[in-house]
Amino acid sequence: MNYLSTRGHADRKRFCEILLEGLAPDGGLYLPETYPQVDTATLAKWRTLPYNELAFEILSLYIDDIPAADLKAICAKTYTAEVFGTDEIVPLRELEDGVYLEALSNGPTLAFKDMAMQLLGNLFEYELARRGAELNILGATSGDTGSAAEYAMRGKKGVRVFMTSPDGRMSPFQQAQMFSLQDANIHNIAITGVFDDCQDIVKAVSNDLAFKRKYRIGTVNSINWARLLAQVVYYFAGYFQATASNDKPVSFTVPSGNFGNVCAGHVARMMGLPIQTLVVATNENDVLDEFFRTGVYRVRAAVDTHETSSPSMDISKASNFERFVFDLVGRDSARLRQLFVDDLGLTGSFDLSADPAFKQAAERFGFRSGRSTHADRLAMIRDTEKRFATLIDPHTADGLKAAREQLTPGVPMVVLETALPIKFAATVVEALGEEPARPKKFEGIEALPKRVVQLPADAEAVKAYIAQHCD
Ligand SMILES: *Cc1c(COP(=O)(O)O)cnc(C)c1O
Repeated sequence: MNYLSTRGHADRKRFCEILLEGLAPDGGLYLPETYPQVDTATLAKWRTLPYNELAFEILSLYIDDIPAADLKAICAKTYTAEVFGTDEIVPLRELEDGVYLEALSNGPTLAFKDMAMQLLGNLFEYELARRGAELNILGATSGDTGSAAEYAMRGKKGVRVFMTSPDGRMSPFQQAQMFSLQDANIHNIAITGVFDDCQDIVKAVSNDLAFKRKYRIGTVNSINWARLLAQVVYYFAGYFQATASNDKPVSFTVPSGNFGNVCAGHVARMMGLPIQTLVVATNENDVLDEFFRTGVYRVRAAVDTHETSSPSMDISKASNFERFVFDLVGRDSARLRQLFVDDLGLTGSFDLSADPAFKQAAERFGFRSGRSTHADRLAMIRDTEKRFATLIDPHTADGLKAAREQLTPGVPMVVLETALPIKFAATVVEALGEEPARPKKFEGIEALPKRVVQLPADAEAVKAYIAQHCD
């Protein structure tokens, strides 16, 4: 399998070449040249496989530069009941007739990002050992991504993590999750400033090419193809649990921010998994809902990005969206560049409303969308607790609200549960007046010793810290 850039660069790359990379050299995103097709005989064979073997089957369609036995061992080591809490890994729970929650948040940090990041940690360790190389991951986090990355990379050989976060601005639970890690290869850096300051520092360090090369700086952000590929697997696993045979359509609703999770659903559908509808659920930051309703993609300025009670979906632009638009415009790189480089660069938006391609988003690719508000989330958390005795987190509530607006009789609707309620306890308390239950392994973590350094919002200070901790 070869990978190409959405923006038309002539190079073709193999999986392990793009594994440790971010954007393609022309600023585009990597995609496979074709989507491998899965027929009904294959689906029948996969239906009864344990999750790690299903992951191996799907991954091996996209990865041909890791020996099969090694890839199989990596999948077996990643997707265990010990790490993810159950043998099913992503158990499905029926809320009411035809509406399901797929649990993706029982990994080490209680959000769905573990599903991909745990695999990435093992793939990185494997590939770095094979190359005899090292990597220093530099990131900025306001919560979920940073902790998922740290729990995936802790103790891994050849990898260090330098994670910046805005000092004092994460929830006590999130701080405790990250800062209580005592592994020597994990570095928590609390920046005197806000999240944007952290992101600016990461950008400034990455733009210093000499420093970047000398200290082998890399990232693990959501445009990484391996992360997206890992997420394709749970659409298959969810499909098999929601159906008894492979001729039945199923729909999925996905709480969305950077369009990574739902893009994996798009890939699964392109492979031939019988997905009828993919519902993109947003909060008040409705860039994506606006596009699927109107055909206009309009990125927001920082000041127009709302701070909401589903904060992991508070984005101003959706960094993986270019992948879907590439397929939408028939993989025409010139057209893609016009939209994402010329139009977006010049005006901050593009308009496909008059383009015949836009109709295809719904008709051919099965996309719908929905949007919710803080009041919707509270109502959905209350309703789900009252009628089904089930606690959901605010992101999953955004999903459930959008799902209910898109139900088709006879077609199961699977809502992806993207975090556990304990991670966003304040909103759950606001809705229900009670604290959500905390898994045993997290009891008392706020009292554990913390491993974190404070640095000013200054890229030079962060560079000096990295240099000092790289030998
Ligand atoms: C990251 C995240 C999302 C958004 O996922 P994308 O892949 O960026 O669309 C939704 N919910 C939670 C809890 C998250 O951590």
